[in-house]
Amino acid sequence: MPIFLTCHGAAGTVTGTKHLLEVHGKQGIFRILLDCGMFQGEAVRETDHDPNRRFGFAPSEVDVLVLSHAHIDHSGLLPRLVAEGYRGPIWSTPATKDLCTIMLADSAHIQEYDHQFDVKRARKRGDDLEFDEPLYTVADVAPAMDLFQTVGYGEPRLIGPGITLTYTDTGHILGSAAIHLDIENDGRTLHFTFTGDVGRYVDRLLPEPEPFRQCDVLVCESTYGDRDHAPVKEAEEELMRHVSDVCVKGKGKLLIPAFSIGKTQELLYTLNSLSNEGRLPRVPVYVDSPLAISATEVARAHSTLFRDAVRDQLTGDPDLFTFPGVEFVRSADRSKQLNGVKEPFIIIAASGMMEAGRIRHHLHNELGDPANAVLVVGFCAPGTLGDQLLRGAPEVNIFGDVVPVRARILRMDFYSAHADRGELVRYLSCQDPARVRRTYLVHGVDHSLLGLQERLEENGYRKITIPKRGQRFEL
Ligand SMILES: [Zn+2]
Repeated sequence: MPIFLTCHGAAGTVTGTKHLLEVHGKQGIFRILLDCGMFQGEAVRETDHDPNRRFGFAPSEVDVLVLSHAHIDHSGLLPRLVAEGYRGPIWSTPATKDLCTIMLADSAHIQEYDHQFDVKRARKRGDDLEFDEPLYTVADVAPAMDLFQTVGYGEPRLIGPGITLTYTDTGHILGSAAIHLDIENDGRTLHFTFTGDVGRYVDRLLPEPEPFRQCDVLVCESTYGDRDHAPVKEAEEELMRHVSDVCVKGKGKLLIPAFSIGKTQELLYTLNSLSNEGRLPRVPVYVDSPLAISATEVARAHSTLFRDAVRDQLTGDPDLFTFPGVEFVRSADRSKQLNGVKEPFIIIAASGMMEAGRIRHHLHNELGDPANAVLVVGFCAPGTLGDQLLRGAPEVNIFGDVVPVRARILRMDFYSAHADRGELVRYLSCQDPARVRRTYLVHGVDHSLLGLQERLEENGYRKITIPKRGQRFEL
């Protein structure tokens, strides 16, 4: 009986991850959806039809959903999937469930808010524009959360007829996992692996990606498939240098756009270490994101998932994310007050690609001042505001205004949550390439997909495919 794979997202792009497996059996077809991510940036803007409004399959026909991790480009359309008729279980690790609880509510809230904002602004300007309804609302989140079922790393679980799920830790964000499915079919077992997003081999909060059992079919992420990150000097030293250049010497403001989940906690952990060592200058640090605050609480609650050496530090410092000078800003009023502050400060706010969230308000205010700097610490998908800044745009469009870019745009690789090419190859070194029958490369732009393909071929992988969106393969 055949098994088919169709990549409905993150095929030739980095966002919108959705891979559908169809297992044909005696009882009919059993459909497993791996991730249900939102498309972001160029992937949305450069198409006639918003890909977030068309799944490419019937949600009500999917039998089971397996989630790799909580990032919005992997989980962001779950409420819409459920609103459109999905009723099966949503499998995840416990930490992923906790993160989804706060992230999906936040995503719904942002969509409702942005929608109202667009409509209001258009009315004010006398524009007669039509705006799409939000993809989902806050009310759509609870029905999706009710479907979650959790399982820890390394605990095999039967999730369908002859189909066993096992998660392994990828060290990408809290709770992130590679998905391993053992699918019994015609008296044989197909070992299928989807890497999800792979973390890094550097000393940070989370452990290194975990090796996994031999697979027959591999679906691998390729975000940084064609490049290696700058060697990790000392993250502390590099961050210190930026803080002292921008805030102490230049008397400017340092804006750090960061994913609320993962990146913000990593940054706070570094700043906390600097503070414990008595090296952090007296510059206020604002964490201006309600979601980041909640995510930091989730991280505290799951501290058993931290790297051993980090867990040991908890005995001397029970809170690795809080230090003198840091303020967690929940209320929108307090966030707005920061606009009037003249003195240097550090602000950490979402979103990382600068497409949404409070960081856009701060960029709107601060980009025009050459004393300030924006420190980019993560991947920015093509077409996003973050990508435009990294490419040296002299001006950008924020909230319908043209904003000149006079602030410096800085970049730090250390906080990248994604393995680079060398690290992906290291992650896959647990596999005998001769026994991997087929490899599919996803979650990358063209040059990174081709770069990883080339490197894997050098390493003995055969039959490597770069799927196009909607392309269906028999495994
Ligand atoms: Zn991710």
